[in-house]
Amino acid sequence: MIRFDQVSKRYEGGHEALSRVSFELAQGEMAFLTGHSGAGKSTLLKLIMLMERPSQGQVLVHNQNLNRLSNSQIPHFRRQVGVVFQNHQLLFDRSVFDNVALPLQIAGYQPAEAARRVRAALDKVGLLNKEKQNPIVLSGGEQQRVGIARAVVNKPALLLADEPTGNLDPALSAEIMKLFRQFNDVGVSVLIASHDLGLIKRMGNRVLGLSKGQLVHDGVLQHATTTA
Ligand code: ADP
Ligand code: ADP
Repeated sequence: MIRFDQVSKRYEGGHEALSRVSFELAQGEMAFLTGHSGAGKSTLLKLIMLMERPSQGQVLVHNQNLNRLSNSQIPHFRRQVGVVFQNHQLLFDRSVFDNVALPLQIAGYQPAEAARRVRAALDKVGLLNKEKQNPIVLSGGEQQRVGIARAVVNKPALLLADEPTGNLDPALSAEIMKLFRQFNDVGVSVLIASHDLGLIKRMGNRVLGLSKGQLVHDGVLQHATTTA
């Protein structure tokens, strides 16, 4: 699903944010990306969604070499990838329903089909009864679940998340991670950047550890060990 082949990224005027990173995430796999602030987690995710391009190396998603995609092909490519952000980036000038419907409107779905899909997505995150509310009145955990519904409403084969539990307490964080696991259980590939090592260890998934732009760990974390 994802393949990084000796990928380096140097921002203009900066040092290397990623150095020769190589890994594969199989179709249907779920993994965490961890490491200290500045380790390169966001940069790695941005390369997968073509918000940035590598300085060296190749990124393949769904067997497409992203180096070969032109900027005009990016919107179409992004429809295959659902993205969840820490601050969820919801719009407070419209309802929960309309927030989740946004990607479908952009993709040109008919309203009836869009409505069916929005309700299917809200149902999966347990918020069907909140569709008419403005997201501003929801709790932090509920807002993040709206963000997840919006990310999956297109039924992407790949779901990315950048610190999706960064603003949530431990109990809510565990619930959000279980939600990601449910999507993984129906075949969605999932890659989640998080520095919450305790939570990651409890999940028991594969962990990719970054330190100063280098991939320094790849495997399941044992409870007693630490990573960079
Ligand atoms: P993380 O998500 O692990 O905190 P980032 O990928 O955000 O790490 O950052 C990795 C490194 O790249 C850091 O040194 C950061 O300051 C730098 N960086 C990130 N974005 C930019 C940018 N747009 N321009 C210049 N440097 C950047
Ligand atoms: P339909 O396939 O008719 O649009 P649903 O939207 O209810 O109906 O989804 C049907 C099945 O597809 C569900 O079991 C759901 O869990 C699964 N599924 C597969 N991939 C995804 C995804 N990315 N997001 C949400 N559901 C998905």
